[in-house]
Amino acid sequence: MSKQTILNPVDKYPKPPFAKQSQPWPGLASKMDPVPDHGETTYKGSGRLAGKRALITGGDSGMGRAAAIAYAREGADVAINYLPAEEEDAQQVITLIRKEGRKGIALPGDLRDESFCTQLVADALRELGGLDILVNNAARQQTHASILDISSEEFDAVMKTNIYAPFWTIRAALPHLKAGAVIIGTASEQAYDPSADLYDYAQTKAATMNYVKSLAKQLAPKGIRVNAVAPGPIWTPLQVSGGATQEKLQNFGSATPLGRPGQPVELASIYVQLAADDASFTTGQVYGASGGAGQP
Ligand code: NAD
Ligand code: MG
Repeated sequence: MSKQTILNPVDKYPKPPFAKQSQPWPGLASKMDPVPDHGETTYKGSGRLAGKRALITGGDSGMGRAAAIAYAREGADVAINYLPAEEEDAQQVITLIRKEGRKGIALPGDLRDESFCTQLVADALRELGGLDILVNNAARQQTHASILDISSEEFDAVMKTNIYAPFWTIRAALPHLKAGAVIIGTASEQAYDPSADLYDYAQTKAATMNYVKSLAKQLAPKGIRVNAVAPGPIWTPLQVSGGATQEKLQNFGSATPLGRPGQPVELASIYVQLAADDASFTTGQVYGASGGAGQP
């Protein structure tokens, strides 16, 4: 057996201060400095999701990309949704999925549109031949110092992306989900400890935490599990494309006890665990990974 290298979580990944940077929304992972680690060269699978079929929204970058890579290495076929502007990030993920000998399906489109959400699920079902894992991970986050700076259009875009899209995709998928299927949402520490400048976004993460608990009760008798992941500050495009102020970004993660932001790869095994059959008694749960901040 090869010797395991033991790594200190404090020093394992980049720490603040970070270079000043901003990108037009929705941003690309490949253009961040440093480039986030989604497990491209490190995640090792062990057949935990062999033969499963997954649809992941926001699968091009951040947590969604880390989950997509891990799912493929655990033996699943994976469809990802993303915005057309993110094609470059998405194609990198598709290449990595196919390198594992798994089906990698690219399904670009805007989740703020109900008819697109319905079509997305239909396309995923057709291309994958069914669906066992639905990960509602995409979200919109824009920092606004004051509630007075939030237009009705912006508020609506946040609600459509973060609350309506999971509703629309779950409703379209449910008639096709069999016992043993799972639904996973991405919540946030913002659900429990909202920041002053994330008035609109934070309440959608509270809604995510809440819908997961409701739906878990509703779907348990059908054998469908529903859980959420609640990350703390993670180094992703969402933060550099309007999600955080420059001051927050340069010191990103400094407030956590570990003194740094998380990397998307550090959440990959959680998305795998919640999807795996051996987590069969886990439903209605929110699994946090926030560098010691204590939420949820
Ligand atoms: P990310 O930018 O890599 O991923 C978000 C994705 O959402 C984008 O890649 C994009 O494809 C998708 N998206 C946004 N609007 C869309 C739309 N209208 N139509 C289709 N797709 C759309 O950032 P991330 O941080 O990995 O975000 C993933 C999840 O993690 C989100 O739910 C976010 O709220 C949550 N989260 C992030 C952090 C953090 O610090 N980064 C902390 C807690 C929770
Ligand atoms: Mg992206």
